[in-house]
Amino acid sequence: DSMISIKNVNKIYNNQTTALHDVSLDIKQGEFIALVGMSGGGKSTLLRLIAGLEKPSSGNVTINSTDSKSLMRVMFQEDRLLPWMSVLDNLSFGSKDKNTKAHALELLELVELSDYADHYPTQLSGGQKQRIALARALMTDPKILLLDEPLGALDALTRRKMQDLILDICQKQNLTTILVTHDVEEAARMADRIIVMKNSTNSYEENCPKNRNAG
Ligand code: ADP
Ligand code: ADP
Repeated sequence: DSMISIKNVNKIYNNQTTALHDVSLDIKQGEFIALVGMSGGGKSTLLRLIAGLEKPSSGNVTINSTDSKSLMRVMFQEDRLLPWMSVLDNLSFGSKDKNTKAHALELLELVELSDYADHYPTQLSGGQKQRIALARALMTDPKILLLDEPLGALDALTRRKMQDLILDICQKQNLTTILVTHDVEEAARMADRIIVMKNSTNSYEENCPKNRNAG
């Protein structure tokens, strides 16, 4: 029941920078993984390989899902919302489905921003914008959610609340989730398993199921 299999992956940029060296990793369906480690350790590269945004120099990344509707979405540190569009239009943008609007309103409820459908991104706080970005990432019902430091720019309290909201949603939707974070406490609080990236490889990992919902 592994959702993502990474086997002996190497990634070398421009024939000179080794970003990943012999990384092997299996991620189960529904598992919440945190990738931590120093800057330059290869976390973003691994995430981009899983997202299919880059190819490994050698080795394999396999996504084991037959559901082709919409496999995965990435949420970034910056919200990437279109400032000239309302919240509802930001969520609906790019879809021709008749039910899109209803689905967008459902997701606004899920991220507790039902009253903000007609607001514009500039009228929202940082935390609210990230909740909209999360709703946007969930619009296509992905099976895998990739989170690249999504809470890095938020203040401590907002960050905590967002952690809980993300956990709650990931559990409800049984998402397989990979979170890149510099914050070890955040990793321990959210993840089932923490993977430490060091010297371009996954040098160490720790299971932490007890931490789920702690605090
Ligand atoms: P992290 O996310 O842990 O900070 P990265 O995956 O961003 O690590 O980077 C790993 C290494 O690969 C670093 O040395 C970085 O400079 C290099 N690197 C990352 N992306 C590129 C790229 N597109 N082109 C060249 N080198 C890159
Ligand atoms: P993050 O803050 O998520 O770790 P990075 O700083 O690793 O992001 O990368 C930001 C962008 O810059 C990415 O698109 C990556 O491909 C590119 N990049 C990172 N390191 C290098 C590098 N050494 N040379 C060229 N591009 C790089």
